[in-house]
Amino acid sequence: MSTQNFATNALHAGHDVTSNGGTRAVPIYQSTAYVFNNSDHAANLFNLSEPGNIYTRINNPTNDILEQRLAALEGGIAAVVTASGTAAIATTLLTLLRAGDRIVASNSLYGGTYNLLNVTLPRHGITTTFVDPSDTSAFKEAVQENTRVFFIESLGNPKLDVLDIEAISSEAKAAKVPLIVDNTVATPALLNPIKYGANIVIHSLTKYINGNGTALGGVIIDAGTFDWTNGKFPEFTEPSAGYHGLVYADVLKEASFIAKVRIEGLRDYGSALSPFNAFQIIQGLETLEIRIKRHSENALALAKWLQIQEEVAWVNYPGLTSSNYKNLADKYFPKGQSGIVTFGLKGGFEAAKKVADTTKLFSLLANIGDTKSLIIHPASTTHQQLSEKQQEATGVTKDLIRLSVGLENIEDLKTDLLEAFKLVREFVPQN
Ligand SMILES: *Cc1c(COP(=O)(O)O)cnc(C)c1O
Repeated sequence: MSTQNFATNALHAGHDVTSNGGTRAVPIYQSTAYVFNNSDHAANLFNLSEPGNIYTRINNPTNDILEQRLAALEGGIAAVVTASGTAAIATTLLTLLRAGDRIVASNSLYGGTYNLLNVTLPRHGITTTFVDPSDTSAFKEAVQENTRVFFIESLGNPKLDVLDIEAISSEAKAAKVPLIVDNTVATPALLNPIKYGANIVIHSLTKYINGNGTALGGVIIDAGTFDWTNGKFPEFTEPSAGYHGLVYADVLKEASFIAKVRIEGLRDYGSALSPFNAFQIIQGLETLEIRIKRHSENALALAKWLQIQEEVAWVNYPGLTSSNYKNLADKYFPKGQSGIVTFGLKGGFEAAKKVADTTKLFSLLANIGDTKSLIIHPASTTHQQLSEKQQEATGVTKDLIRLSVGLENIEDLKTDLLEAFKLVREFVPQN
């Protein structure tokens, strides 16, 4: 494992310039398949007795560099990149679980993930108990005989709740199940969940890691710390019908999970990342550390400024002294708290909608983690199909605006919001 620091690894890890034709930039290997020396060579690749490339759905040299780099940055033993963050989550869960198994998950999750766990996976017999993650004992109480994984987000989107990963990982250990952490909003530049006991870390590379809003991608990173032979995971200790009798735990040891993700998960579910997207994501990853620092500085400054605006009812940002998560943020996010800020307008639903419709620098769209600033009013857009109760559970109130604060000059961002606030003064209730 690399002993170098984050910024260095973000630029160099996984890339041996002597083995890629001397190219200083990581080249794009835009090839679907790879020529075998002969049939015996092919047989060796298929039975894993020799490493090498077979077909880009399973492995690709450009993707391999991104995988090694992300594993180094999170402190994992290996990684697999996927077509999107959603593909990373689905492939992980479908690799680990079978009908009858149960997930314990935080109720503060990205909307797509919530739907996968709440609606789609139950159709395949995999069910989820959702718990309030601010109450660590709720995880313990939710554990049943058939519970197989814990799933959380380190920094919830859009609630911005900071989770006590260390405490939750203790409960996962006691239950003998792996803790899976979606670290998308935090990024590895601000937080490494493996240091606090996470066994598997997932990212949507679409967000801050790519950073420019140009490519979808995802990654699954294996800490290599979970004991798959503890009796709960026969998939790893019994001969695999899906890979000519391979017993993962015997042959692949601590890399059992990530190997199965690649040779069975990618093979059977087909969620491979395009090497062109891997290239784009590598360009973004090179500057992640300096970008996320600026995103965090801009977000904190804007959150403080919002607190003193006449039209604003409340502001939520984990770096504010007024935040419920200040203590946890001090522990888990001393380097910055990322670029998402939420706030409410005194004028409620109509005022919030108006502001989101009016800003010019802040683009109205459903994404986060772009270099450009983004805005959305979830109650009238992304979350409009949810009942009032569901909206409340996900932390989406009628007056809530979510900002993804970009890298623009902070004064220009304030001016853009001020112009929009002028139009909603009429909505502020007079007393
Ligand atoms: C966006 C996002 C995802 C899904 O990633 P895609 O690349 O859009 O599929 C998962 N988790 C979190 C926290 C996200 O913000």
